[in-house]
Order: sequence, then structure tokens, then C-alpha cells
Amino acid sequence: MKHVYLFGNGQADGTAEMKNLLGGKGANLAEMNHLGIPVPPGFTITTDVCTHYYENDQTFPDELETELTDALKATEQIMGIKFGDEQDPLLVSIRSGARQSMPGMMETVLNVGLTTKTIPGLIKKTNNARFVYDAYRRLIMMYADVVMEKAAGIEVEEGRGIRNRLESLLEIHKKENQYQNDTDLNGDDWKLLSGKFKTEISSTLGDEFPDDPMAQLRGGIQAVFQSWNGNRAISYRRIENIPHEWGTAVNVQTMVFGNMGDDSATGVAFTRNPATGENIFFGEWLANAQGEDVVAGLRTPNPLNEDTKTEDTKDFPSLESSMPKIYSQLAEIRETLEDHYSDMQDIEFTIQEGMLWMLQTRVGKRNGSAAIKMAVDMAQEGMIDKQTALMRVKPDQLDELLHPMLDSQAEQKAVLLAKGLPAGPGGATGRVVFTADDAEAWHNNGDKVILIREETSPEDVHGMHAAEAVLTARGGMTSHAALVARGWGKCCIVGCSDLHINVQTKEVQIGNQLLREGDWITMNGTLGKIYSGQVDLTPADPDTHPEYKELMTWADEVRILNIRTNAESPDDAAQAIKFGAEGIGLCRTEHMFFDETRILAIRKMILADNETDRRSAVMELLPFQKEDFMGILKAMEGKPVTIRLLDPPLHEFMTLTDEQQHELADHIGTDVKTVKNRIAGLHELNPMLGHRGCRLGIAYPEITEMQARAILEATAELTQAGTSVLPEIMIPLVGTVTEYTNQEAIVRSVATKIEIEYGIKLSYLVGTMIELPRACLTADEIAEHAEFFSFGTNDLTQTTFGFSRDDIGSFLPVYLEKNILPQDPFQSLDITGVGKLVSMAVQSGRGVNPSLKIGICGEHGGDPSSINFCRENGLDYVSCSPFRVPIARLAAAQAEL
Ligand code: ADP
Ligand code: MG
Ligand code: MG
Repeated sequence: MKHVYLFGNGQADGTAEMKNLLGGKGANLAEMNHLGIPVPPGFTITTDVCTHYYENDQTFPDELETELTDALKATEQIMGIKFGDEQDPLLVSIRSGARQSMPGMMETVLNVGLTTKTIPGLIKKTNNARFVYDAYRRLIMMYADVVMEKAAGIEVEEGRGIRNRLESLLEIHKKENQYQNDTDLNGDDWKLLSGKFKTEISSTLGDEFPDDPMAQLRGGIQAVFQSWNGNRAISYRRIENIPHEWGTAVNVQTMVFGNMGDDSATGVAFTRNPATGENIFFGEWLANAQGEDVVAGLRTPNPLNEDTKTEDTKDFPSLESSMPKIYSQLAEIRETLEDHYSDMQDIEFTIQEGMLWMLQTRVGKRNGSAAIKMAVDMAQEGMIDKQTALMRVKPDQLDELLHPMLDSQAEQKAVLLAKGLPAGPGGATGRVVFTADDAEAWHNNGDKVILIREETSPEDVHGMHAAEAVLTARGGMTSHAALVARGWGKCCIVGCSDLHINVQTKEVQIGNQLLREGDWITMNGTLGKIYSGQVDLTPADPDTHPEYKELMTWADEVRILNIRTNAESPDDAAQAIKFGAEGIGLCRTEHMFFDETRILAIRKMILADNETDRRSAVMELLPFQKEDFMGILKAMEGKPVTIRLLDPPLHEFMTLTDEQQHELADHIGTDVKTVKNRIAGLHELNPMLGHRGCRLGIAYPEITEMQARAILEATAELTQAGTSVLPEIMIPLVGTVTEYTNQEAIVRSVATKIEIEYGIKLSYLVGTMIELPRACLTADEIAEHAEFFSFGTNDLTQTTFGFSRDDIGSFLPVYLEKNILPQDPFQSLDITGVGKLVSMAVQSGRGVNPSLKIGICGEHGGDPSSINFCRENGLDYVSCSPFRVPIARLAAAQAEL
């Protein structure tokens, strides 16, 4: 097996297609050779060698040594100079390069091959002692850091590593000599410092910096392989879902120098602007500098060209004006690369004494709006087809356009207070309040507020609605606060354990800062970061983004899945329609009872101890419910609306203070003791598995009757008024067909009565939410009666795993950490388990009822990979929160490609 692949002089063993073996960097260095682009010659050691290294106690395959020697010879031949040669030494860099780029996560060592023996020759050749000793001290620094400390597994406290020690020697030297910048140091300074560096290394690390070129080369190669398993790289892979088995390649490449004087330079560039997507060449460069200087930020880099100068950089020299010939060569390479790769490239280049060399090209990272613009532009330019354009944008990248965000420059300067879980994306700034009522009151006074709670409950909803953002100390990504906030597209951070809230004094301790009611904070809900004070926001308005609109049209042309939304108010519904929703997949009804006027009626109903009282209490709710449904059905303009009958355990309506219990007793003319007893009687050990869902309607049929009547009277009246409406009445938490038929019978008999009362024919459907394993297993029985299924995958996940979603926070992090589960099954559908139940239910349901309408309405309805699964299983629609509708539209299109 071949372990080493050569490149140089317009030839290469590898190609761009060989990323798995050569890593992204190596494959593209090879490809640039094929394209006739100038690349310093060298070779790539494959990722297989990395795998071998880790599978064999960190040793290399036997053949590697000979291949390495041969490759080095070949490189020397192209360059006409030799590695380790005392007159005219070849120097190389040793660069990491995985399949997928992991920026800054792994190591690079530059200037390898400089030793006490090769230094004099190079000084003589270049006639530039300053340059040589500057290169030497960089080698020492990098080598000590990467090879002698990190790769050797030496653990140091942050800021106490060998690199920091060497840097402080440099600082001391600058102070002593009153130098401002590194450029003020001359050859003697660097020479002196190199000596000091080596002494420091041997005293701190107990080992000498190697003075032998081959020792440096071997050490460097091994260190890069070793860096694959450095802590930083491992955690990056975990976040980005990069498999640990992939391994990195190592590139050994002839050094070119941007620090040889004023006709030398180095820079990085993007073939289009990665922040805006604009089709202009965009980059930064520095004269007389070496690679990392541009990125390291020690010197402020200059703009690449005149077009991209800003207010801040207008007086800086551009490469275009300083080196016009080189610039136009670079601009040509830009075109070649974009044409060839058909995508925006992120490139590194170095100019050595008037000669341009390309050091890297890769597909450039970009933010969401830039991704959309580039994809649409490139399709319109004919560079890619529409399908490719659709695949170029990650559905979650649309998020950026749908929410206001923090201004990124302002955010960099902001003071971070704490971090929590990023539950609701976007940015928000406001004054802190601690109760829902305060939130509403301040809001009504024209103040922007952020509601801080230990955790939220349905009773906080009005305050959450009034707030710009919600911040909680407890709860996870699927907590009440998170669900509600996401539903509204509201910024939200949950589970921020650094919050210590005192609701009595209306104060919160965040980290070491004490905030009082009315103090300003700012949140970045996309990243889960909380900042002190006010930070500027940039507003969201996707309709002002022409490329977004275009891309969504393309998505709609391609997709087959329908996209509905979960909405429970006419406002939500209207928002969702703007985002392209084609119906409501889940309209919950319980929140409709929390309004002050209504909650009393429902509490009366709960307290009733006989049917007559209960019926009269329930019927008090009828006019309210009817009005709610009128609003929503009308807002949806004839699109289907799935309305779920009452679902939660009744005690959720009965969390009362002593005072409220007295009030309630007075109101209904009973004593407090009765109230207290009834509340105690409602207590359940496992409310999630208790008296809820259709079990309520079975025990108290008048609830179902009232809700059916509210929905169908609204339907009848709207129909008579000439509005077309399509309600779908959904019976929750059905586990047996008999539960279903019991509730269906009530709905149908109400419908028959209303048809007679209004003298019209109603069009409506009755169906069920499939959210229990037993329902999936008996889907054929249920489908004989039901007209539609809607998978409630939140409960289905709870009941399939036997996980309580509200308690998952205590063990899920451990599960993810130990790889027991690949991801949170409440965020991304567990396809192997829960998914199997879904597939089974779809098949057996459609087996008896081929026209069965099927959708999904859990949180998963907005998750791209779950959407793909839904399409594969022949679902008709997915339903998600309004702000995820565009994301679902794109994901549904991608599911077809
Ligand atoms: P990363 O993957 O972190 O970008 P690189 O391997 O690209 O690391 O190297 C870091 C820096 O060193 C880059 O700026 C690169 O241009 C520079 N560099 C790497 N190899 C050479 C070389 N052979 N000649 C000149 N500069 C180099
Ligand atoms: Mg690089
Ligand atoms: Mg449910």
C-alpha cells in the first residue's frame, strides 16, 4: 500500500477526489498542481498511516521510512536543493489536514530543517541574518509547543505553557530595548533570543531542542498525528460530529517565505465575501510576514483590493495597488479555482521575493445569509444547477434570517456574564424582570424586558409573550420555556446554572455580577450567551432578502411533503402563513383555558362532583372556545387545521396559592376544605402517564362534547358566511381502538346535531394523535375508524424509551458523553427505535385505509434529518413551529434530491 503521495511542478499523485485518503488540504494541494497553479512542492502522508499509528500502539508502518526518504528526494529534486544541506538548505513545513477542515484544531510546524549547521549557509545565500534568525525562533517556538509539549502529553495550566514562557522572554527583550513591534528586532536580537529560548526549553521541559533536520522532521510528523487526539481536536469532532476513526493526513511542503523583505508578503482570501455572499474578491494581506501573522492578529492586516476597503482600512495599502502584477495573477487564480470547484474558496497564499505561491484552497465557511446569496447567485450565473443550490444551504442556516441577531462586532466587545443552553435562536436585549406579571406590566409601559425564571410553567405564558426573551436557570432544550419560546421564534436560553435568582428581592446573581430588576442584559440565543448591558441588534426580515425568496420558490417546486405549523392563536397562524405554512398540524387547546375569565370556569368544572354541575361549568367555556376557533380557522383561509382536544392532566389547572383557593371557594360557594381535598385528590405520581389525553374525555364526555361543538359551530358559521374551512379534530393519547371509537362517537353525534341545527353539511375529519407504542402496534385497528394519524413524536419518544422528558436533564448529558445515545432523541427522531414504530404504524394503517392522511407534529417536525425520515416513510406532511416553517420547506426539498 502506498503511504506517501507526491505533488509539485504541475504534477501530483493525488486529486481533489482523494480527500478521505489525503485529507482536504493534501487533496487540494494535489489538485492545484493539476490546474497549473504554483504550489510549493512536497508530499502527503495518508490518513491510513494515522489509523495505523493509533491501532498499533503509536507506531508507523515499516515501509513508511523508505517512502519518506524517496519523497523527500523527489521534492529536493524539483527544488534543486537538499534538506539539511549546509550551504543551501531546503526547509519544509509540516501541516495537518483532515478530511473535513478543523480550523486551528490541529498543529502545523514551519521552517523545519534549520539547525546550527544549516543557519550559516542560509544566511550566506539570502544575505539576510534577520530573516533566518526570525525563522529559526519561530521554528523553536512552534516545535517546543507542538512537538515537545503537546504531543508529549505534558499538561500545563492555561497561560503557563512553553509557548507562553517563550513569548514572555520576547516581551522582556522588547521592553529592555524599548522596541514596539516584532519588526523592530534585528538579526542579533533574534539570534540572542533563539539562544534564550533553547535554554528555557531545556530547563522547563528537560529536553533539548533537536539540532538535527531529520529528527525535527520525524518529530514534527509524529506530533501532527498526535494532535489528532489532542483535547481540542476531540471536542471539536464531538461538536461537529466528525468520526474519530477518520484520522488526519500530514503534509510536508517546501517552505516559501513571505518575510524576506518588502517584495514578500502573505495573505488569506475568499473568492467571494463570506459574510455577505457578494461576488467580490475579499481578503487580507501583510507585507514581509509569515503565514500565521495574518490570522494571529499581531499586526492589523491590509485589505486585498480597493473595492473592499472600509472606513477603518481606507488608508491602508491594498495588494492591488502595492503589487498590481501579483494581484492580477491572484485574481486569475481566484477565477480558475471558483470555476473548477464551483463554490466559494478560502485560500492562503505567500509571495516570496515577487513570486506568488498558493498554499491552500478549500470550500470556504460562510454564514447563513451569505450561503443563500452565493447559492442563488451561482445558480443564476450558471455555475451550478438549482438542485445543487438547494443543497448548498443547510436548513438551519435559514434561522439567521428569521430572527434578529446580535451585531457581531458589538458582540465581540460585550461582557459575557454566563452561558446556558441555546433554546431559542436569535438575539434580544432588555431589562430584567422576575415574574410574568411584571413582564407584562413593564411591557405595557413600553419597556423591553427579559423574563428571568427558575423555570417556566403555563401560567407564565403571558409574561413570556410580553418579554423580548426568556432566560431560565433550570430545564433543558425541550423544557416548557424552550418549547414556547421556539414556537414564537423568541430568543431563549435555558438551564443556565450560573443564575441565582431571588424572586422576593427581585435580584439575580449571574456569575459575579448582581443584577436588579430593570438592569439591562443582552442574550444570544443561538449560542446560549448572556451579556451585560445593551448590545446592538440587527433586525430580521427575510422578505427583504431577494435570494432567500428565490431559494424558497425553488424549494417549493421540488418538495413533495407538505409543511404545516403548530399554532394556537390567529397571530401565530398569520406568522406561519407568511413563512409558507400550508395548514396547522397541531392546534393545542389547553392554553386557551389559562385566561383569567376562563380558568375559573375550568376550575369549577374540575371541582364539580356531579355531571350536571360539571356540564354547566364546561358549557361556560363554549363561547370562548368557539371564538378561538373562529379566529384560527379564518386566519388559515381554507387550509386544514388540526385541533387537538384537551390533553394535559387536570391538576395543571389547579396549582393555586392559599389565597387563590379561598377566592375559588368563595366564587363557587363552597368551603376551602372541599377545594383542598379535590386538589389533593387530583395528585398523581406520574401525571405524564396519568389521567390525561382521551382519558379525560372518556371520564368527562362533556368536555369532548363542548370542544367538538365549539369547533363545529365555528365551522358551520364560517361556512355559512362563505369562508371555506377544514377542521380536523384530533383525539389525543389513544392506545386502544375502543378509546378512539368512544370519543369519535361523541364528536360525530355533535356534528349530526349541528348539521341539523344549521341546516348545512359540515366537512371535517376525525382522527387521532399516535403517541403511544400500543397505538402503533394496533394502527390497523385504529385506522379502520380514524381518517388521519398525526404522530406526536414527543410523547411517543417518552413512552418508547420510558424516558420522562422533564427529567431527562439528569442523565442525558452522561448518555451523550458516553455515547450511549448518539443524540438527544427529543430533538432528532430516534429512527432505529421510535422510527420503527412510526414506519410500522404507517404501513399497517394505510394497509386498511389507503387514503389515511398522515403527518407528524412533534418537535421533530422541524428537524431536517427527521423530515427526511418522514418523507421516506410516505407521510403527507410535517408540522413545526412557525419559525421553523422555512427550514422545513428547505429540508423537505433536500429530501427529494
Ligand atoms: P491550518 O490548517 O491551521 O490553516 P496550515 O497548515 O494551513 O494550518 O498552516 C498554518 C500557516 O502556515 C498558514 O498561514 C500557512 O499559509 C502557513 N504555511 C504552511 N506551510 C507553509 C509553507 N510551506 N510555506 C509558507 N507558509 C506555510
Ligand atoms: Mg491553513
Ligand atoms: Mg402528547
